[in-house]
Amino acid sequence: MSQDDIDKQLFANANRVIPGGVNSPVRAFNSVGGTPVFIRAGRGAYLIGADGKKYIDYVGSWGASILGHAPPEVVQAIVDTAARGLSFGAPTVLETELAELICQSLPWLDKVRMVNSGTEAAMSAIRLARGFTGRDKIVKFEGCYHGHADGLLVKAGSGALTFGVPTSAGVPAEVAKHTLTAKFNDSDSVSEIFTVHGNDIAAVIVEPVAGNMNCILPAAGFLQHLRELCDQHGSLLIMDEVMTGFRVGPAGAQGRYAARGDITVLGKVIGGGMPVGAFGASSEIMAKLAPVGAVYQAGTLSGNPLAMAAGIATLRTVTKPNFYPELESNTIRLTDGLCQAAAAAGIKLIANRAGGMFGLFFTESELVDSFAAVNACDIEMFTRFFHKMLARGIYFAPSAFEAGFISAAHGKDEIDQTIDIATTVFKEL
Ligand code: PLP
Repeated sequence: MSQDDIDKQLFANANRVIPGGVNSPVRAFNSVGGTPVFIRAGRGAYLIGADGKKYIDYVGSWGASILGHAPPEVVQAIVDTAARGLSFGAPTVLETELAELICQSLPWLDKVRMVNSGTEAAMSAIRLARGFTGRDKIVKFEGCYHGHADGLLVKAGSGALTFGVPTSAGVPAEVAKHTLTAKFNDSDSVSEIFTVHGNDIAAVIVEPVAGNMNCILPAAGFLQHLRELCDQHGSLLIMDEVMTGFRVGPAGAQGRYAARGDITVLGKVIGGGMPVGAFGASSEIMAKLAPVGAVYQAGTLSGNPLAMAAGIATLRTVTKPNFYPELESNTIRLTDGLCQAAAAAGIKLIANRAGGMFGLFFTESELVDSFAAVNACDIEMFTRFFHKMLARGIYFAPSAFEAGFISAAHGKDEIDQTIDIATTVFKEL
């Protein structure tokens, strides 16, 4: 059986017992068509498909696997910890240690609460902001994703100043109406909302580098503008660093772009591939949280030893000197190489990048800095590129609206091999 036939068979089996055959929609390849590759194993920069085919992986479990797959120090930490028990529902010193590592790297956080996913962390951060301010409304940005809590699956109504409308069935209009939607990198769109609703806004939630509409960097002054507006109106700024935390630098996007949120939301890298999310803030804000304060939040498996051990081992490695400069130089090598190879084939490709994350855009524009600009890119060309690269063993995210990630396990060999293959593929597009 060919790889494709094996995947088709496995996908058919999965579809019989799992809705759409997947446990998270983007994995179904709906954006690009075709059958998802079933993964048997991952090692370093590589994924191994069900039939043994090797892929150089630029998804990295959607950014979580910053050390590559199955990094020995993380696997060992999990094995050692598992031998002592999987979950106690009682405090362990591992929770304190991971919280300390996070607070040391993001020193504007006094305290963090661990949860089990980015969704849970963002949802809890919003409840905390509402509890702290006594207000109901939140502002989010078109094209940004903060997990699938009801109030976040919302798009702008007939105009940004009107109440939000659900983007998913099952979200009550009564909930969506508390979410207002602005345009990323458009400071005026946020100012306008604050002019009308300022005194009712509990929080602005933003991905400081937007990684769920491909990879869009913050324009100069944009994050600082959000900070000023929130300060002027007594609203909180929530920096959703689920993707960017420990990914674009040791202090995340807030460190990289000198912008501070009141609440920081984390996930992905801090769990080293295990299910972890976290949110943190000053002692004053975190004091609102149960069991100290009146904002309820809890979790049976929150802070479980395996996830904490994986997070600790990962953060100890990424906080070593030179980790991020080396990671970033490999991102540059990859994106520059791909853009040059495309240009040589007469194709205009541009890239955005920050630390170990990047975005590729087939566009005639010089700059892609908004959701509208991403939508204007040549999505069909991306789809052809994606499939041809996949067939030759290069695994990019199966959507033109997702960021790419490299890990510390991606060396020059993998990157140069990727560029060589892309050089051939660009000629066929
Ligand atoms: N926030 C951001 C910025 C994300 O990228 C994601 C997931 O991709 C989430 C929140 C939700 O995290 P999870 O998928 O762990 O629930």
